[in-house]
Amino acid sequence: MKKQISLVIFSCLLIFYCNYSIASDDQSSGPAGWKAGISRAIITPQEPIWLAGYASRTHPSEGILADLWVKVLAIEDSKGKKAVLITSDLLGFPRKMSDHIRNQIAVRYGLTRSQIILSYSHTHSGPVLMGALFDIYPLDEQQLKVIKEYSLNLEKKIVDLTGEAIQSMVPALIFSQSGITRFQVNRRNNSEASLTAQSDLKGPNDYAVPVLKVTDKSGNLIAIAFGYACHATVLDIYQISGDYPGFAQIELEKSHPGVTAMFFQGAGADQNPLPRRTIPLARQYGNELAASVERVLDENMKKLDPVLSTAYSEVNLKFSKPPSRDSLIKISNEAEGYQKSWALNQLRALKDNGSLITSYPYPVQVWKLGDQAIIALGGELVVEYSILLKKLFGPDIFVLGYVNDDMAYIPTETILKEGGYEGESSQMVYGLPAKWAPGIEDNIIDEMKKLASKTGMKQFSQ
Ligand SMILES: [Zn+2]
Repeated sequence: MKKQISLVIFSCLLIFYCNYSIASDDQSSGPAGWKAGISRAIITPQEPIWLAGYASRTHPSEGILADLWVKVLAIEDSKGKKAVLITSDLLGFPRKMSDHIRNQIAVRYGLTRSQIILSYSHTHSGPVLMGALFDIYPLDEQQLKVIKEYSLNLEKKIVDLTGEAIQSMVPALIFSQSGITRFQVNRRNNSEASLTAQSDLKGPNDYAVPVLKVTDKSGNLIAIAFGYACHATVLDIYQISGDYPGFAQIELEKSHPGVTAMFFQGAGADQNPLPRRTIPLARQYGNELAASVERVLDENMKKLDPVLSTAYSEVNLKFSKPPSRDSLIKISNEAEGYQKSWALNQLRALKDNGSLITSYPYPVQVWKLGDQAIIALGGELVVEYSILLKKLFGPDIFVLGYVNDDMAYIPTETILKEGGYEGESSQMVYGLPAKWAPGIEDNIIDEMKKLASKTGMKQFSQ
């Protein structure tokens, strides 16, 4: 007993001194630090399934180029506050699925919406999910059945994996830093067809490669979470893959056996990987992204204090005036394909509800790990938001688009006025009644400012 007590005292002293000496150059080390846990599962569909993202595909998938994954990083700060980052090789979760998943996570593990980031890489070589962009795919009964079954299994798997990640948490250190790479091209301001003849490219772009590094207390790498703002649209073939983000994860996991590499999409809605359309190009961009992450890992990264703040809200974004019943009837008679389906769906909604929806609850989220701010916004976020938010909150913040709900493109005020796919016509693809109303940018940024002040983020300009 006596021996045990003196051992405890000795250990305490040792911890105190170690702590003290480390704390002199780094305040974040100590016994009550971060905890982190990882879980992962392959989610590659096992039978032919319609692939998501393009209206041009004419039949279900044929074979597998690379497996798809869901990966979960659970973290806990020194006061026991938890959060989970869920990444997935998928095009996007519609609200219904995301709500099911996040509600279940709340019920089973007590995490609120602010503590869950449900991210999707936006690969266009992954399966169609239940209720997602159904108007643009010619799905028969058999495919609808396959998609429904896959989606239900997926929801369950993600919820179970979240529990496993929380269960597996061990004492950890977390670091952050941004790298850089430049293979995305602003697709609104450059023509893909004449790209090879261009000697200069027009922006804007965000070349940052945000990286979170998670190690155990001894510094052994456990997980790497990294992002990039660029559509995952190198490939439009019938083989399943995670596109360039999938290849980047594979490459990093090859050079760090046993480590989990997780990709989150940035504000890449108006950014394409160009040139594109070949498997070697998808691998090349994956390798370029992985190389930029490796460089960051090799350098001194910022060690984050074990203090976690999270905030989440849904801001009501309004739609412009929808087309009249007469013009919907005209479109339904004259148009083909998804435009026809869209008009018929709007007419059905008018009949069932007497009116069309006039606004949408848009998810806005902030995490702060130590002094690393992470902003996560729903839908297909154009790069101008990232640039705007970095002006407001500093260049080191991480900006994620494509989280929690894939409801639409999210244009800035300028892009909304200009129109085009990201400003207007994509609303039809998403089955929404009209384009967004003016004021969308201010509404999102104002809400962001509120969440930022809640989490103690520093604002650099008004
Ligand atoms: Zn997209």
